[in-house]
Amino acid sequence: GAAGARLYSDGGADAVWALDAGSVRAATGNSSAAWLVQFYSSWCGHCIHYAPVWRALARDVRDWASAIRVAVLDCAAEENYDTCKDYGIHFYPTFRYFKAFTKEFTIGENYKAGIDREPQTVRQTMIDFLQNHTQGNRPPACPSLDPVTSSDIYPLLENSGGRYIAILFESNNSYVGREVILDLIQYKNIVVKRALNSDKAFLKKLGVTSIPSCYLIYPNGSHGLINILKPLRSFFSSYLKSLPGVRKKMFSQFPFTVKPNKDDNSEITVWREFDKSKLYMADLESGLHYLLRVELASHKTLEGAELKTFRNFITVIAKLFPGRQPVVKLLETLQEWLVSLPLDKIPYNAILDLVNNKMRISGIFLTNHVKWVGCQGSRPELRGYTCSLWKLFHTLTVQAVVRPKALANTGFEDNPQVVLKIMREYIGTFFGCRECAQHFEEMAKESMDSVKTLDEAILWLWKIHNIVNNRLAGQPSEDLKFPKVQWPTQDLCPDCHEEIKGLDSWNEVQVLTFLKHHYGIKNILFKYAE
Ligand code: FAD
Repeated sequence: GAAGARLYSDGGADAVWALDAGSVRAATGNSSAAWLVQFYSSWCGHCIHYAPVWRALARDVRDWASAIRVAVLDCAAEENYDTCKDYGIHFYPTFRYFKAFTKEFTIGENYKAGIDREPQTVRQTMIDFLQNHTQGNRPPACPSLDPVTSSDIYPLLENSGGRYIAILFESNNSYVGREVILDLIQYKNIVVKRALNSDKAFLKKLGVTSIPSCYLIYPNGSHGLINILKPLRSFFSSYLKSLPGVRKKMFSQFPFTVKPNKDDNSEITVWREFDKSKLYMADLESGLHYLLRVELASHKTLEGAELKTFRNFITVIAKLFPGRQPVVKLLETLQEWLVSLPLDKIPYNAILDLVNNKMRISGIFLTNHVKWVGCQGSRPELRGYTCSLWKLFHTLTVQAVVRPKALANTGFEDNPQVVLKIMREYIGTFFGCRECAQHFEEMAKESMDSVKTLDEAILWLWKIHNIVNNRLAGQPSEDLKFPKVQWPTQDLCPDCHEEIKGLDSWNEVQVLTFLKHHYGIKNILFKYAE
C-alpha cells in the first residue's frame, strides 16, 4: 500500500506528533492539551515543500507541548483513508485545531487558516486559539495569557512567594510575552506574566523605558529590569531558563502509543521493471481506483457543481477510456445510472456501492488497490497518483481524436476542448492538492480557449504539463530517479527536437505524432494489470 516512508518521523526527532488512524481520536479527544493537526497527503507536492517549515515550527514550540501540540496525519496512507473521510478532509494540506477537553467527537476547527503559513504566523494563531478556550477548559499547563495590571503586580513586589516572577512589558499586539510564558511552562521555580505598556506612571516607577522589556522579581524579594542584548523572544526565554534554581519539569512526551516510523528501506517493495516508452494499464486503472474510491470518496455527498463535474467526468471517461471490458463496463454502468437519476444530490456511498458491487462475476470490475508501474516512485510518497492522473488525461485527449464518434449524443460532440474541460472541472473541484489546482486553473484561464481542434487539445495539455515540469524541477517533491524534464526527451523522440539558431526547439508536428503514438492503444501494456 501507500505505507512506508513518511514526510515526518515520530519519536521526537521532528518534534511533530505523527498521528494515524489508530491514535488521532485518542490524542485529540478529551486531551489535556490543545492540538494543531496538519492533515496532509504525501503525494501533494506542496505538502512536501511545506514539511521543513512545519518541522521548524514544531521544533520552535516544542516546549509548549503540555499546552498545545503540533501534529500531522498522512491522508495518503491507506490505513488512514477512512479517518480522513471522518474528519471531512478534502484538500491538502488542511489545518485543524482541536480544543482541550472536547468530550464529543469533533472534526476540529479551521482556525484562521490559509492566509500565510509562515511559522511565526502559525505560532501566533496557536496563541490566539489557546486564548479562545473558556476558563474551564483551558489546558491546565497553560497559564493565563491575558495581561496583568499594575494592581496585580504591586503585591508581588512585596512578596514573590519564593520563586522568580518575570513580567514582560509590551504593547497590546505583541506576542513576545505570551511566547515567553509558553516557552517557560515546563520550568519550575519561575512564573512569567505579561503586562501592557499602558500605565505610564507605573512603567516610570519601575524604570521601564522601552518595550518589550522584562522586569524580574527574585525569590529573595529583590527586583529590577534584566539586561538583555536584544529584546527578542528567544533572548528573554533563554535568559530566564538559565536562571539559578530554574529547572525543567519532567513531562511525559508520549502518553499514547504512536507507531514507530519505519525507515525508508525497511519496507521492501518489489520494484516492477518497466519501459518508459510504454504506457501501463496498471497505472491508469490504479489511478481510476484512487480517484473513485479515495479522492472522491472523501466527499460524503455530491450536489450542485460537484455532481455536475462528476457526471461530466464519468460521461466522457465512459466513452473514451481505452480500458478492458470489465472497467469500461463499470464506467458505463455508472454513467447510465447517473444520467437516469433525477436527483440533484447523491450520497457518495451510493456511488461506492456501485463501484464496489458485483465484482468480477458480473463482468464489472475495477482493481481495488494501487499498483504503480510506470508511475512507481523511488520512495512511496513520490509520483503515484498524480502521475497516473496526467497519463489518464493525456490518453483521453488522444482517444478523443481517435474515436470522433464516441461522444455522439452526450452534449460533448464537436467540442474540441471536451477532455480539457472535464479535466479542468475535475482538478478545480476535487483534486486534493489545492495549490496545484490553482496553478492549473490560472493556466487554463489564460490559454485554454485558444484550443480550436482536438489535435490542439493534445498539444495544449502537453505544453501545460511541461510548464508544470519546469516549475517543479529542483523542488523537494522531485523524484531524483525520475527528474523533471521537458518531455519527450531526445532519447524518447529524437524527431521532436530540432536546433534553431543553436537552441533546442520543439517540432510540434512531430510532437503531435509522438503523443498520439505514446498515448495510443497500441502502446498500452497489460503487464502487472490483474
Ligand atoms: P508527472 O509530471 O506526473 O508525469 C507523468 C508522466 O507523464 C511522466 O512520467 C511522463 O511519462 C509523462 N509526461 C511528462 N511530461 C509530459 C508532457 N509534457 N506531456 C505528456 N506527457 C508527459 N505538483 C506540485 O508539486 N505542484 C504543482 O503545482 C502541481 N500541479 C499539478 C497539476 C496537475 C493538474 C496535476 C495532475 C499534477 C500536479 N502536480 C503538482 C504533481 C506533479 O505534476 C507530478 O505529477 C508529480 O510530481 C509526479 O511527477 P512524475 O515524475 O511522476 O511525472
